Amino acid sequence: MSTHRYPRRVDVAIVGSGPTSAAYARILSELAPEARIAMFELGPNISNPPGAHVKNIDDPIERAAAQRASEGPGAGADTVDHPGAVKAGQRRARPGTFLLSEGYVAPGEDGLPVAAMSSNVGGMGAHWTGACPRPGGAERIDFLADLDDLLLEAERLLGVTTQAFESAPFSGMVRELLAEQVDSGRAAAYRVQPMPLAVHRRSDGALVWSGADVVMGEATRSNKNFTLFDNSLVLRVLTEEGTACGIEVRNQHTGARHRVDARFVVVGADALRTPQLLWASGIRPEALGRYLNDQAQVVFASRLRGVQGRGAAGNPAAGLSEQSGVSWVPYMDAEPFHGQIMQLDASPVPLAEEDPVVPGSIVGLGLFCAKDLSAQDRVVFDDQVPDYYGLPAMRIHYRLSARDHQVIERAKEQIVRLGHAVGEPLDEKPFVMPPGSSLHYQGTTRMGESDDGRSVCSPDSEIWQVPGLFVAGNGVIPTATACNPTLTSVALAVRGARRIAEKLNGSLLMSESDNRMSK
Ligand SMILES: Cc1cc2nc3c(=O)[nH]c(=O)nc-3n(C[C@H](O)[C@H](O)[C@H](O)COP(=O)(O)OP(=O)(O)OC[C@H]3O[C@@H](n4cnc5c(N)ncnc54)[C@H](O)[C@@H]3O)c2cc1C
Repeated sequence: MSTHRYPRRVDVAIVGSGPTSAAYARILSELAPEARIAMFELGPNISNPPGAHVKNIDDPIERAAAQRASEGPGAGADTVDHPGAVKAGQRRARPGTFLLSEGYVAPGEDGLPVAAMSSNVGGMGAHWTGACPRPGGAERIDFLADLDDLLLEAERLLGVTTQAFESAPFSGMVRELLAEQVDSGRAAAYRVQPMPLAVHRRSDGALVWSGADVVMGEATRSNKNFTLFDNSLVLRVLTEEGTACGIEVRNQHTGARHRVDARFVVVGADALRTPQLLWASGIRPEALGRYLNDQAQVVFASRLRGVQGRGAAGNPAAGLSEQSGVSWVPYMDAEPFHGQIMQLDASPVPLAEEDPVVPGSIVGLGLFCAKDLSAQDRVVFDDQVPDYYGLPAMRIHYRLSARDHQVIERAKEQIVRLGHAVGEPLDEKPFVMPPGSSLHYQGTTRMGESDDGRSVCSPDSEIWQVPGLFVAGNGVIPTATACNPTLTSVALAVRGARRIAEKLNGSLLMSESDNRMSK
C-alpha cells in the first residue's frame, strides 16, 4: 500500500490516516470505487496491516518500537512514559503519543499541559482504548436528523461490540454495584452497562483491537484506485478561485515537495493539526481553532471486596487483557460526566507484597467532564515561529471556568461514591488529571447548521468558505461531549464521505453522458 511515487492528480486527497480519515477512504471505496484516492500520512507505517493497533503486536519489543516510531519529536523525550499511564500532576505522555514542547499554556491560564498527538499510520487509533459510547442528551448534535443512522454506520466501520469481555471475572458484579448507586431514576439508555468497545475475537479466540485498519477494511485495501503514502507531510491545501484544488506534500525521506491536484481534499490531521494546516494554507475562518475543549478527567481506584482469584495476573503494560472488564456510566445532562470503569490486573498504586492482586479485582474509575464551551478557549498559530515540522507553531489559550470547577467538584464527589460502592478505595482522594489528559480535543473545526461565524464547516463537514475542502476528526464535533468522541467523529466522517461520493458519482455520470452525447 505504501509507495512514494506521488500521483499528479487524484479525485480525493486525504490528509492523515487515523480512524476518521480511514472512514473517508472506506466509504469512498464502497460508494465510488472508480474514484482515485490518495491518503497522505506524516508518520511512518508501524504495523501490519497498515493502521493496525499496536496492542495486536504480541512481541513487547516490537510493540515498544512501534510506539516510539509514533512519537514524532517526542520519541526518546522524558515526557513520554515507557511503560505506563499518565500520572496525576506530571507532564507525561502515554506511549505512542507526544506532547507539545511549548505553547501549551499562556501566563495566568490553565492551558493544556498534556495535549498530545501521534504521528504514524493509524494515528492515535493505533494506541487508543477503543471505548465507543454513543453520545446522549446535550452531547448529541441536534441539527443532524440522521445522527443515529451515522452512529450505526460508525459502529460497523469500527467493529464495535459490547460482548468482547463477557467472560471477564467480576464484571457483572461491578456493574450491579455501580447500578445500585446510579441507576435509580435513569432511563434505560442511561443506566450502567457494558462499554461498547472496538474490539473483536479472531477465530483462534485472541482479542484484536480495531485501528484504522479495521475502519479501512478489505474494501479499501483491495481498492486498486486507493494508495496510502506514509512519511508524507502535507504542508498546504491548495485553492483556486476559493475552491480546494489539491495539496502540497513533502516527502519526509527526501525533503522533496510535490503538488498533487485533487477535486476534493479531506483534512483529518487531529483537532490541533487540522486547524494548523488550514491556517498555514491561508484558510482562516473566524471560528478556526476556537471552542477548543478537552474533557477534564477525574480518577480513583478501588479494590473489590471478598473476591477469590481466577487465572494469573496480567501485564499492565500490555493494556486490557482477558481479565479486564469495562463498564459504562453514561453521561446525563443533569450529571455532565461520563464514567469509564475499567477492571485492571495490576494496582495503579503499590500494594504490599504479601497481598497479591486477584486479576480483575482492581477497579480503575474515570469520570470525563463536559467542558463549558467558550470561543476564547483556542489554539492559535504563530506565522513567525515554525514548529518541529516547519508549520506555524501552536499556542494554546485555555481556561477552566467557574462552572467547569463546579462540575469537576461534583465529579469528584460522584467518583468517591462509586469507589466506595464497588469496594475498598486504594487512595484517600480522587485525582484530577492535568488538562489534556483525556486525549479528546474537540471543537477547533466545528460543524454548524449555518455559516454564522461560530462554526467552520457545514453539516457535511465541508468548509463554509472553501467548496471541496472537508475536515474530519474530533475537532468537527460542535457539542461539549463527555463521552469518548471517536465514534461520533467517525459518524460525522461517514456523512462527509457520502456527500463526496454523491458528488463524484454525479459528475462521473455527467461525464459519461457527455461522452455518449459527443459520440
Ligand atoms: C492512549 C489513548 C487512548 C484513547 N482511548 C480512546 C477511547 O477509548 N475512545 C475514544 O473515542 N478515543 C480514544 N482516544 C482518542 C482516539 O484515538 C482519537 O479520538 C482518534 O484517533 C481520532 O482520530 P482522527 O482520525 O481524527 O485523528 P488521529 O488518530 O489523531 O490521526 C491524525 C493523523 O494525522 C496525521 N497528520 C497530522 N498532520 C499531518 C499533516 N500535515 N500531513 C499529513 N498527516 C498529518 C498524524 O500524523 C496522525 O497520524 C485515545 C487515544 C489514545 C492515545
